[in-house]
Amino acid sequence: MNHIEKQALGLFPTPMYRLPNISRELGTNVWIKRDDLCGVALGGNKVRKLEYLLHDAKSKGYDLVMTTGQAQSNHAMLTAACALRIGLDCILLLKERGITARKGNQILNHLMGVEVRYMDTDSFEDIYEEMDRIGEELGRKVYKIPCGGSNTLGTLGYIDCMKEVADSGIQFDHLVCACGSGGTAAGCTLGAKLYLPGTKVMCSMVDDEPFDVVVPRLMQEAADLLEVSTEIPVPELLPMWGPGYSIPSSEGNEAVSMMMKLEGIVLDTCYTGKAFAGLVRRAREGFYQPDDNVLFIHTGGAGGLFAQDWETE
Ligand SMILES: *Cc1c(COP(=O)(O)O)cnc(C)c1O
Repeated sequence: MNHIEKQALGLFPTPMYRLPNISRELGTNVWIKRDDLCGVALGGNKVRKLEYLLHDAKSKGYDLVMTTGQAQSNHAMLTAACALRIGLDCILLLKERGITARKGNQILNHLMGVEVRYMDTDSFEDIYEEMDRIGEELGRKVYKIPCGGSNTLGTLGYIDCMKEVADSGIQFDHLVCACGSGGTAAGCTLGAKLYLPGTKVMCSMVDDEPFDVVVPRLMQEAADLLEVSTEIPVPELLPMWGPGYSIPSSEGNEAVSMMMKLEGIVLDTCYTGKAFAGLVRRAREGFYQPDDNVLFIHTGGAGGLFAQDWETE
């Protein structure tokens, strides 16, 4: 079905297995898909998106890639790591928001020697304009990757992931992932519609954005690109951002602790902790049956964990 080419960057398929202690704790069968173990830097969901985006950049003759995010962006760090590996130059133009000190992902950016510039703005439009300006100043064509890699091509990454899940032959009743810029939620929701009949996808929103509009739009664009005619499903979105984007929540931090203590797996306070907290909340509410199979997509984020304060508001 998928005729769009990509550049191999990660180690796929990623491991997937049942979590015995969490399953006992929550009274249902909880499984995990370890996209944090996909083999680039500290892993994470952006690698699947970058396989499409960077192939597009290379095949169109670009040799300079720019992207954006907040100061501790996992996406920006992974874009740099993937771009440099395949011989593309990279400049990160980040929002001067969050922890800009040499901590967490900034350590990795520093080790790679990637150029990081900051902009004191809340508008991504300003940032994309500045990318064009830098390109003109350098006399180079810039391949701009949007925040989180969440555009049409990026969305294909998690459609592939759902195909990978289907290829395992295990029947899942439920699947839970994080939603931060929408590409993962769109890819999982549409991918499950295409490859996982009977699996209900729930996306834990870690930011207060109009994802009820963004996610269906991304799904429609991806379906058009793949030339599949299917009714676009309505995404199931659970507000899990707590005090706000990237601010730790007590419910999220409890989920991070539970996963570390019971299974020895590292989640983060910005994305995967809040995403997993959505699953925990639903399990506690009796939403899952004892013999259901519930799959949690681990989207990475360890780099950010080591820059953030643990305190909640
Ligand atoms: C970016 C990110 C997400 C959110 O994925 P989107 O596709 O941007 O919604 C989830 N987890 C981690 C660790 C991330 O870095």
